Amino acid sequence: MIPVTLGEIATIVGGALVGDPDVTVTDGVEFDSRAVVPGGLFVAFAGEKVDGHDFAADAVAAGAVGALAARPLPDLPTVVVPDATAALGRLASAVLARLPELTVIGLTASSGKTTTKDYLAQLLAELGPTVAPPGSFNNELGHPYTVCKATERTRYLVLELGARGIGHIRQLCGIAPPTVGVVLNVGDAHVGEFGSIEATARAKGELVEALPADGLAVLNSDDPRVRAMAGRTAAATVLVGEAADADIRAVNVRMDDRGRATYTLVAAEGRAPVRLAVAGSHQVGNTLAAAAVALRLGYPLARLGPALGRLRQLSGRRMDVFDRPDGVTVIDDSYNANPSSMAAALHALVAVAGGRRTVAVLGYMAELGEAETAGHREVGRLAAAEGVAELVVVGDLARAIYDGASGLSGWAGRARLVADQAEAVAALRELLTPGDVVLVKGSRYRTWTVADDLRDSAN
Ligand code: ATP
Ligand code: MG
Repeated sequence: MIPVTLGEIATIVGGALVGDPDVTVTDGVEFDSRAVVPGGLFVAFAGEKVDGHDFAADAVAAGAVGALAARPLPDLPTVVVPDATAALGRLASAVLARLPELTVIGLTASSGKTTTKDYLAQLLAELGPTVAPPGSFNNELGHPYTVCKATERTRYLVLELGARGIGHIRQLCGIAPPTVGVVLNVGDAHVGEFGSIEATARAKGELVEALPADGLAVLNSDDPRVRAMAGRTAAATVLVGEAADADIRAVNVRMDDRGRATYTLVAAEGRAPVRLAVAGSHQVGNTLAAAAVALRLGYPLARLGPALGRLRQLSGRRMDVFDRPDGVTVIDDSYNANPSSMAAALHALVAVAGGRRTVAVLGYMAELGEAETAGHREVGRLAAAEGVAELVVVGDLARAIYDGASGLSGWAGRARLVADQAEAVAALRELLTPGDVVLVKGSRYRTWTVADDLRDSAN
């Protein structure tokens, strides 16, 4: 963060300062007292389970010089505000206004935001100092938190924008107006909250509406709802994907026997051969979108192919493919799930397996609302249609996956429904033989414990 005095912070956020206005915050805004560093600002939120205000002493011990809180904190100069979230947004805006050299890039999608944000941050870091959020910090807290990490040295600020309804992305763009906006896809994630996929498209498109006329919208040519967003922006648009009219295009896409794509990137500047190290055919679109932004910000095409080949998944439990000593390959994609990302992962499972036996351990997908039963059934049907050999459905909430697979006639595989993660682990212990490829995926709900067991039992 850039140095700001508590007096300035009080003015920026419209709060009442209790303490010395000349104290300067020199480093970092943190909500978690354990993450505070010397010179930092501690932001206290009253959560449902824990109240940050109770941790003031820890923040002081860690070196906090001031706080943003609903009431004065002991031993810590405090800017008192009724709503710390709104105050943090105002502070982030003010920090950004002092950094005119910064290029702000916003990225949204139903699936693949964190993955692609991490790819883009890896590429841009080669062009100049880059700030991007850790993991999935994409809401009204994580977003301004990330903005506050920018300093005078920062050249690129990569922001993941999440939305659970209309107006959310508009609000985030108000805090940190982007000049480059990327939309990857509009799918059924959180459709329960949006109400319909059309509403999701409206909400995601708020990103391109926020771009200035001299800005850039990077849009996926292969998703019709994303393509249509070209009509909603004043910015120049770059279409990326496999469509014939895409400006930055992947041609000759092939999957190797570990489920990793190779392709030729074709741009106005020329062509670049790409061999990805990350698994899944959906990575073609994710890496192309990151490449498009990097190219337009000056990344040389000649270096782009090898750079795309070096990209790693920085945030865990997303398409993490590892081989166990016993010859079993595990795909840990247990971070989260919705029908589109389940489809991408099942497809990747079959590609990674390349003829070996496939096992899919699938859990409940949250936040689907009315589409819940149909969404789960469809995933089960898809697992069977992809020819998954062994399907383990975890938990009664996910029963419709089991029904969907069992209902597909002609499927040679086998489905079983287990009560919980422990039963899934037990079933796998019995089931797995050397050479198997296992996918683990679900919406949090501790599905990851199954992946962890597979990892641990490998050692
Ligand atoms: P969240 O809304 O939880 O923040 P996200 O949009 O950040 O999710 P990621 O965490 O990058 O998404 O990826 C989640 C999962 O979505 C991945 O593990 C993978 O299975 C799948 N995925 C990633 N990219 C795509 C894509 N382009 N299309 C479909 N599925 C994808
Ligand atoms: Mg995310």
